[in-house]
Amino acid sequence: MNKNVYIIGSGFSSLSASCYLAKEGYNVTVLEKNSTLGGRARQYKKEGFTFDIGPSWYWMPDVFERFFSDFGKKPSDYYTLDKLNPGYEVYFGENSSVKISSELNEIYNLFESEEKGSGKHLASFLNSAKENYDTAIKDLVYKPGVSPLELVTTTTIARVTQFFSTIRKQVRKNIKSQKLIQILEFPVLFLGAKPSNTPAFYNFMNYADFGLGTWHPRGGMYKVIEGIVSLGESLGVDFKTNSNVEKILTDSTNKVSGLIVNGEELRSDLVLSGADYHHTETLLNKNLHQYSDSYWDKKIFAPSSLLFYVGFDKKIKNVSHHTLFFDSDFDAHAEEIYDNPKWPTNPLFYANFTSITDKTSAPDGKEAGFFLIPLAPDLEDTEDLREQYFHKIIDRFEKLTNQSVKENIIFKKSFCVNDFKEEYNSYKGNAYGMANTLLQTAFLRPNIKSSKVENLFFTGQLTVPGPGVPPALISGKIASELIIKNKNK
Ligand SMILES: Cc1cc2nc3c(=O)[nH]c(=O)nc-3n(C[C@H](O)[C@H](O)[C@H](O)COP(=O)(O)OP(=O)(O)OC[C@H]3O[C@@H](n4cnc5c(N)ncnc54)[C@H](O)[C@@H]3O)c2cc1C
Repeated sequence: MNKNVYIIGSGFSSLSASCYLAKEGYNVTVLEKNSTLGGRARQYKKEGFTFDIGPSWYWMPDVFERFFSDFGKKPSDYYTLDKLNPGYEVYFGENSSVKISSELNEIYNLFESEEKGSGKHLASFLNSAKENYDTAIKDLVYKPGVSPLELVTTTTIARVTQFFSTIRKQVRKNIKSQKLIQILEFPVLFLGAKPSNTPAFYNFMNYADFGLGTWHPRGGMYKVIEGIVSLGESLGVDFKTNSNVEKILTDSTNKVSGLIVNGEELRSDLVLSGADYHHTETLLNKNLHQYSDSYWDKKIFAPSSLLFYVGFDKKIKNVSHHTLFFDSDFDAHAEEIYDNPKWPTNPLFYANFTSITDKTSAPDGKEAGFFLIPLAPDLEDTEDLREQYFHKIIDRFEKLTNQSVKENIIFKKSFCVNDFKEEYNSYKGNAYGMANTLLQTAFLRPNIKSSKVENLFFTGQLTVPGPGVPPALISGKIASELIIKNKNK
């Protein structure tokens, strides 16, 4: 039996799959077009500063534990985790912010102090969120998305209304404070859609937030990439960077026969792609695409982003490791992302200063700052616009946090729509895949197994279960299980 498999890309999903397949005895080669591994989770280092280029929130620690335990390992074999307290901070106006504690009791107190009676509502909301977490994360999200029946269990039947109601409705039923509403609607933004377009069942993200907490791998998210690569190497995976896959070859029966990589032909009858799904299909002859251009065009994609990695020559005050700036109109910004795509008039933004809790990310007395503005995918992206928006948010940042920082910038580097396209072959420059709306959940997401090309499989944030690092790890497991099952048929 031929067990050579090529994996396209080295994001979390590809790395996860590489380990499962190597453990099963496959000869695995990972082909990454960029010069470093990790996909959207790469690292940027400059002048003693270290930034995670993409993901920075380590949520759902149980998913990482489950991944490593499949190989008889623990996360602590590869990296050290710190639980952040506060988990994060949210600004609502000048000198007005709340800190989300790592202790649930303190979160209840915070809610009560904002709105009388809201602590009780939060408790029952979190009970339901925990039940959904147990149903979803321990079971549903590990299903391959090949049949609607995967979603039919006694638990989901009992919760069917939660698939047809939305997070927005559920949150607003009992809570009236705009601040508390924004805090409760924030976690589903990780799923890539508006809260008004995200099924209430996804409130399990609120349990992930308040119940399980926000963690930080010392040294940054890239430590997790390094951990998985090291696990993969110990299992025999061959990692090749600077390896751009230009074509997927098929034989006369439409079965995978190889790849063209940097102009050279590699023979293999099994390929798994963790590169953006739309891009992977463009590597095939058109008659072998499963999805048309109009299919992709109609899908709701997660936002793109304008990002800045900034080295400051002093410590920044009045902020936490993760800080959200929700001082502008959330609905207006969401409309400019999803309904009427354009550069936002008055954007919400997010910043992290990992060097507040992690000394390894900036030299002594200095601060590493990461700023993110969510944007509609495929917007025009120019240096001018990037600069304009940097000034917009940094002026606001100074006002909101009551300090001047502009003259303390040692360097800044930006990353935006064009970079997402160029660096990751990302469809329309999306930052984190296809949103988890009701019609883009489970079996309604793009197939893990190609229906047109035999032995071509897909993994990653456009497949099941969806966007985010924990789902990417799970997606790698699902795809490899399907490959193994297919081989054994
Ligand atoms: C700015 C940002 C912030 C985020 N924040 C968080 C967060 O805080 N927490 C969280 O959980 N998630 C977060 N996410 C989402 C998370 O990073 C992603 O969902 C996840 O990393 C995606 O992994 P993946 O394996 O699907 O794909 P990717 O990481 O995109 O990997 C795909 C890889 O394929 C490679 N590739 C593409 N085409 C080819 C080709 N032709 N040949 C060879 N290689 C190719 C690409 O270079 C890339 O390395 C964030 C994402 C971004 C961008």
